[in-house]
Amino acid sequence: MKIEKKVNLELPSGHENLLLHSCCAPCAGELMEQLLANDIKFSIFFYNPNIHPKKEYEIRKNENIRFAEKMGIEFIDADYDVQNWFHRVKGMEYEPERGIRCSECFDMRFERSALYAYENGFSLYATTLGISRWKDMNQINNSGEKAASRYDSVEYWDYNWRKEGGSQRMYEIAKREKFYKQEYCGCIYSLRDTNLWREKNNRDKITIGEEFYEAKISPSSTS
Ligand code: SF4
Repeated sequence: MKIEKKVNLELPSGHENLLLHSCCAPCAGELMEQLLANDIKFSIFFYNPNIHPKKEYEIRKNENIRFAEKMGIEFIDADYDVQNWFHRVKGMEYEPERGIRCSECFDMRFERSALYAYENGFSLYATTLGISRWKDMNQINNSGEKAASRYDSVEYWDYNWRKEGGSQRMYEIAKREKFYKQEYCGCIYSLRDTNLWREKNNRDKITIGEEFYEAKISPSSTS
């Protein structure tokens, strides 16, 4: 498949390959295509023990694997150490999205990403999480920098993937690829809160595994 270059990308000076932490296929699609279009060497690192339940985790992961295989990109499947995730966010169960629970959640995922980068010869890592307009980019970048600062030889790349039409292309790719459309951020608490909101707004509860991006696309995913 020929990928059209939409942005001119260059890795920060001194870096030759990139470990790309991915949260899901819809967020990763645009980044993967533009990295490929710019001949940048990278691997996908899937580490998201926040995703609940396991069925949702497997669907999100498998969608990402499907696209990575199609694009010929290495996919690194890391642990689903969900008990550690629950341990780290203990006491933050009722915190709102973009609050301290989310900082802890980003910290955990990026610490593992930075460690993998350090142990496997990647001098740079980045994340797909920031392309979602539902996320606080500063919060993500703060966690990203903090995790990288544990290692002298690893840097975090804070490129803004939303600019130059990136956010729009993210949805176009999701539609073209008919990706699974997750309807909540990922954890059990975001599932609970999204369902509470739906109940108040007379909408049906989320049904895991049923929604896919198709012709009638709308940027309503909270991924
Ligand atoms: S709402 Fe999303 S970012 Fe926040 S803790 Fe849950 S899964 Fe992590």
